[in-house]
Amino acid sequence: MSKSPYQTMSSSEPAPLSTDLMLPIPIHERFLVINPQTSSPFFSGLIPPEIRDAIFDYALTEYTRTDAESIYPVDTAYTRPGYTGKRSISISFLLTCRRIYKETYHLPATHKEHVFWHGRSPTVLVGDENERYYFRRFTEWQMKSIKEIHLFTQLFWLENSFPRLCAQECLQGMERMTITIRRGDWWWNESNTPLGIIPQRRHSDNAQMMKDWKDEKEGKQIPWDSKAWGSAFARLGSLKELVMELETSDDKKDELMAIVEKAKTWRFPYKNGTVLSAEGLREEVSTWQGPMCNWSGHCPYCGLRGKCKVVSPPNKGCEERTRLKAENKGPICYVVRLRWRVVKGGQ
Ligand SMILES: [Zn+2]
Repeated sequence: MSKSPYQTMSSSEPAPLSTDLMLPIPIHERFLVINPQTSSPFFSGLIPPEIRDAIFDYALTEYTRTDAESIYPVDTAYTRPGYTGKRSISISFLLTCRRIYKETYHLPATHKEHVFWHGRSPTVLVGDENERYYFRRFTEWQMKSIKEIHLFTQLFWLENSFPRLCAQECLQGMERMTITIRRGDWWWNESNTPLGIIPQRRHSDNAQMMKDWKDEKEGKQIPWDSKAWGSAFARLGSLKELVMELETSDDKKDELMAIVEKAKTWRFPYKNGTVLSAEGLREEVSTWQGPMCNWSGHCPYCGLRGKCKVVSPPNKGCEERTRLKAENKGPICYVVRLRWRVVKGGQ
């Protein structure tokens, strides 16, 4: 039987003096007498450790708050599945006893999804790049527990500001990054412009993307511009996995799927002869009913602003759009989730 890492606290032993607590040493690094809590089913052997860990994880899972002030309005660019209101993690579990604290102190920082909205965000941000401000509030040991970051980015932000962000110190421990490009995040989505995204270039548009695809088909290689967003992952010190979620509305599904097929071949340059590759990783597709703000100003089926063109027989797309708008509903949105992992460059 291995020796317990915890000192037994008998009733005759007083708790350490509060002066200890005044020291600027994290609680988990302090020498504290800890009751092993062997009468608790968590620690008596009754509940197996892996089940106990799962319960602790669950108790410290982030949840969406349901009070009126925390719920996001429905018709916004940021309200979407999984993001319907402000979130919290209840940390009262950490106050149960010292043993629980010692085992779970790091979980809130790990379990919280560290989300940043670059454009169309639910909160007023301090500048466009608020990651540095946000992570400044974490302690050094908390930062060591944070391995993931999720960015919602408009394409213009991805192209202009993302490379600068990747060089920031606070991102150097991130092992997993998720980037979501929503229905309204593509260039000129308001006027229903065809989708375009080119990771090798500083700026994307559909015409250039089509030209590049044609050139690639003919065997030409599109060089990676060192200042393009697709080159910026190499600035992240610890990245192991990249996830990209690409979203558009029903009428642009075919455009999106063509981009997805191309995206599966993107090999983002990384460090020391490695690249980020999607090879062997399957994409996941999901759908949801978007809000009204996801309709572009121009009808995607007849091209008119305002009321649709009257034609005989009626345009089915226009009819469906008119019906959904009358019900205060937006278009069906498609989200494709793609993954890339670090592999050797030659693979
Ligand atoms: Zn129409």
